Amino acid sequence: ATHEYLLSNFLNPRMNTRSDAYGGTLENRTRLLRELIEDTKDAVGDRCAVAVRFSADDEIGEDGNPIFGERRDMFEMLAELPDLWDMNIVDYSLEMGNSRFVKEASLEPYMEFVKSVTTKPVVTVGRFTSPDTMVSQLKRGIIDFVGAARPSIADPFLPKKIEEGRIDSIRECIGCNVCYSGDTIGVPIRCTQNPTMGEEWRKGWHPERIAAKGSDGKVLIVGAGPAGLEAARALGLRGYDVTLAEASRNLGGRITRECALPGLSEYARVRNYREQELLELANVEVFRESKLTAQDILAFEADHVAIATGATWQKERFNGEVFSSVAAPGTSPEILTPDDIMAGRMPSGSVLVYDEDSYYLGGVIAEHLKAAGLDVALATPADNISDWAGKTSERWRVRAHLIKLGVETIVSHSLQNFDGKSAILECTYSGQEKRLSVGSIVMVTHRRPNDDLYRELLATVDDQAEALPFTLKRIGDCEAPAIVAAATYAGHKYARELDAPVDPDEPMKHDRIDVGLSSLPVGEFGEKAKAALSPGYLETLLRYYEEEVVGEAYFDALAGLQDKDEDREKLRLIAEVENYAADSVLPLVRKYGLQPRTEAEMFQEGRDQAKTADSDWKEILAEMDRAFTGYIDDFKRLEAMAPPEDLPRLKVLTDHEVAAVDFIELELAGTKNCLQPLKNYLATGVA
Ligand code: ADP
Ligand code: SF4
Repeated sequence: ATHEYLLSNFLNPRMNTRSDAYGGTLENRTRLLRELIEDTKDAVGDRCAVAVRFSADDEIGEDGNPIFGERRDMFEMLAELPDLWDMNIVDYSLEMGNSRFVKEASLEPYMEFVKSVTTKPVVTVGRFTSPDTMVSQLKRGIIDFVGAARPSIADPFLPKKIEEGRIDSIRECIGCNVCYSGDTIGVPIRCTQNPTMGEEWRKGWHPERIAAKGSDGKVLIVGAGPAGLEAARALGLRGYDVTLAEASRNLGGRITRECALPGLSEYARVRNYREQELLELANVEVFRESKLTAQDILAFEADHVAIATGATWQKERFNGEVFSSVAAPGTSPEILTPDDIMAGRMPSGSVLVYDEDSYYLGGVIAEHLKAAGLDVALATPADNISDWAGKTSERWRVRAHLIKLGVETIVSHSLQNFDGKSAILECTYSGQEKRLSVGSIVMVTHRRPNDDLYRELLATVDDQAEALPFTLKRIGDCEAPAIVAAATYAGHKYARELDAPVDPDEPMKHDRIDVGLSSLPVGEFGEKAKAALSPGYLETLLRYYEEEVVGEAYFDALAGLQDKDEDREKLRLIAEVENYAADSVLPLVRKYGLQPRTEAEMFQEGRDQAKTADSDWKEILAEMDRAFTGYIDDFKRLEAMAPPEDLPRLKVLTDHEVAAVDFIELELAGTKNCLQPLKNYLATGVA
């Protein structure tokens, strides 16, 4: 009933001009919502809770100063109807505000009356990443549930880590809203902090688990910006012997430079989280103040080298065709870049920030210069100030903020030249020129990769990369300057694929892999289409699915009968693998409208089987050893019967048995790392 959707329009006296029983008085305007909640409750009975999203305020006011209007009266009329109130506010740019403008728990003043009016539980959001803030709101009776969308994108294991007291390992959301930009642009989601976000299915990247190293190679990473740090962290987790060399004293690269600018302090979490994680990894050595040369790298004798040396802001502008200097012929005016400003070099007088980048940095640099007492104007050839930041829901706030600070804003004008006294700006539409008196210009236009080191290394072997004694890759901004999310992604990708090169001819897994079949409602896979399948396929599929569910309960029950912790752990992991295998084929069971027994029945069977089985670990192992290899053949036979679109899921089913057999072999041989095949299987992230 919010976000200007239909129900909220009914509630709104400015929009609802009806003269029937659903318009006019407060009671009439709330009628539709009330009836819907009541009808829904009647329909679902006690089987399911009904939650309603409702706005606590009436219209957008100053941040933190709600305009409640008649919301409290309205809320009192509905207070006890749903089972859960999901409270939000009118101003979306505050509710899911960017950390540059909005801090944690910003909705608190808006929740003032809510809990006192209803006895039903209340949830709201507030980019909560700090358990202290969450607990404080719960204890003070502001909320009953903690809503955390972005914090769970950045770290899906946030609740688990709090539960286990692993507070330091929480990957805190930085509030950049890059996740939201995917929604605005219509492309898959990405997260600056969590590079696995959106790749769980397509690439099988689990947010917490990663496969153990596939070789004993030694890895050297040059540059500790977001790309280098993430590569080192993920490779470290995989067990690789990693050396991370950083030229400066501080880690973090661009993050460390940028987070000192106004409003960007929370961006430091990109560095802090990774720095903290590296402390836990004894196999990762970090060397600061170590600017490496090509000779240093050759002498290091690594097996793999990743160059993550970032990129540098340029002084030229790009007009869509060519890069060109804006200095008027025969002059050498003061033209600076964001790198100069971040290094502490300030313009000497009034300054124009010329923004062709169109994301956050232009506005932030302008604010920084204004705070230093300079006269500042910001011009852009785009139609909006910080145009790209519209995708992260901060553009409106950036412009409003700059106007408030007294920064002159000029849109749709491109910079033609500058002689040290006047900047000539040309209107994008009319071509008309205007003159702006400024003493210097900061060009926020584009960056070029710092790839000299990469090229020098290649030059030592006449550009024949294979002739180098190590694999060589550029990652992050050094390969392609982009947003921070692209750098953490590149670092992570490097670590995941170091020993598992991706075949570019292998088609990507698609979210839409079985559109048209499994997307049908349960049981509506036509009888005709079913008849065209191999005889026995569906029966076998259903049987094997059920066997995995039974198997999960069986091994879990056996685990409970073990005396030794280590045996318990092994059996529990096998149960988890069975569960994973069952989950992987469940969508197929649903697609064909097959009717498995209830979970309770299958679990009961598993537990009953465990009661009659020998619970001695050695006996269990011997039994598994005897039976499991044959199961692999059974699963392969099922694959042979299947239509091609079902194969990816069936392969996961087969693979679980392969992993189990590998485990048994290692266990029988007394190998210490015997659980690794099971862990690797669970890390594939497909189910
Ligand atoms: P990215 O966003 O791709 O991670 P950054 O620009 O944030 O890139 O980080 C690059 C890092 O690489 C910086 O911290 C920089 O100091 C470091 N660096 C650049 N050249 C060298 C070098 N030759 N040796 C070691 N570190 C380097
Ligand atoms: Fe948070 Fe940014 Fe990740 Fe979104 S993209 S969840 S705002 S860190």
